Amino acid sequence: MALVVAKFGGSSVADKDRVMNVAKIVTDTYKSGNDVIVVVSAQGDTTDDLIEKAKEINKDASKREMDMLLTAGEQMSISLLAMAIEKLGFPVVSLLGWQAGFITSSAYSSARIKKIKTDRLKKEIDKNNIVVVAGFQGLNRFDDLTTLGRGGSDTSAVAIAAAMGADICKIYTDVDGVYTADPRKVKNAKKLEAVSYDEMLELASLGAQVLNNRSVEMAKKYSIELEVLSSLEDKPGTIIKEKVEMEKCFISGVAKDDSVARISIIGVPDKPGLAFKLFSKLAKNNIDVDIILQSIGRDDTKDISFTVTKENGKKAVEIVSGYLDVIGGQKIKYDDKVSKVSIVGAGMQSHPGIAAKMFEALYDKQINIQMISTSEIKISVLIDNKDADCAVASIHDKFFSES
Ligand code: ADP
Ligand code: ASP
Ligand code: MG
Repeated sequence: MALVVAKFGGSSVADKDRVMNVAKIVTDTYKSGNDVIVVVSAQGDTTDDLIEKAKEINKDASKREMDMLLTAGEQMSISLLAMAIEKLGFPVVSLLGWQAGFITSSAYSSARIKKIKTDRLKKEIDKNNIVVVAGFQGLNRFDDLTTLGRGGSDTSAVAIAAAMGADICKIYTDVDGVYTADPRKVKNAKKLEAVSYDEMLELASLGAQVLNNRSVEMAKKYSIELEVLSSLEDKPGTIIKEKVEMEKCFISGVAKDDSVARISIIGVPDKPGLAFKLFSKLAKNNIDVDIILQSIGRDDTKDISFTVTKENGKKAVEIVSGYLDVIGGQKIKYDDKVSKVSIVGAGMQSHPGIAAKMFEALYDKQINIQMISTSEIKISVLIDNKDADCAVASIHDKFFSES
């Protein structure tokens, strides 16, 4: 007998037929002799709708109250799924995050799971219940409800798998696996049979929505093998694990992130200490900086550009503006109509020419690169947002049609 953790995303439980479909998958798994813990997200666009409702009342609502509201989405879906499982005649119990023992940090809206007190989960499994747990939520040290950030149910599932020593963690979604690019946007995207934790972590962090990056980080840390598969078609998905056979084309995927903004400070004095002063000021204000580009000094001045999330863009500009006389810049430029397009692949470490091939794909479409950043297994470029979909398609073609 195995312990299976299965997670179903919002589209998989969007309406009554989808909920019954999930109940069938879950009870089939249970009937085959497995213990089953199910993690569910809020139905369809419920979380977005709740955010809109909040905005109608207070655009600046506190994060505590936002979490109180958003956790309600998952409360609806666990009870509805449990009712569907009852209807099929199986023993079931639904649990909110706190009932399932999720203890988190106190950071409302982006809490981290500190531990899971597994007593209740174990008790319910011992009673032979199918356990349906609300994803995306926990309780902090003030006994307040918290949420884990958008897409956080993936992390809830992996955390349960780790804490309970599950044999398998299956992430059911609306596509049948991880593809070489978003299959809804790139028609000839190819499904990957398997992908390594490191590559999946980069893909998820660089915009491939199919898995939340923190869930992959956690899966790697606790060696939990994941399978991403469809809740609508019964066929094998994509396995995410430590080591994977290298594909011929050396990269595993292309990802796009539209949530970035670029800030440039023009005409700062070309002398030591500027980068230190600027980035420590931003860090003190909790602003994460991603790509940084500094020009070579000319006429005793230089320019420095960096990217932040769009969400932090305005705040970052305010901070830098108030600090401009200290760092001595002449003016600030802000652009949030940019996208980051990236390729990811462990194979690029040992094969020269991958960057050139990516840049050629952009040149083919006359797309200008504003910034470049690289690591051992990824190359990212910042480009104009209107070119982003074309860039993804062209880069994807270059690597995957010719292989
Ligand atoms: P869920 O509601 O099940 O959590 P998400 O909407 O969060 O599902 O993630 C699934 C979506 O991720 C797919 O519908 C697909 O459009 C998108 N996606 C983006 N990049 C990829 C990729 N490389 N492979 C598969 N899906 C991707
Ligand atoms: N319902 C939450 C969201 O929409 C959590 C999740 O779906 O994973 O972000
Ligand atoms: Mg998701």
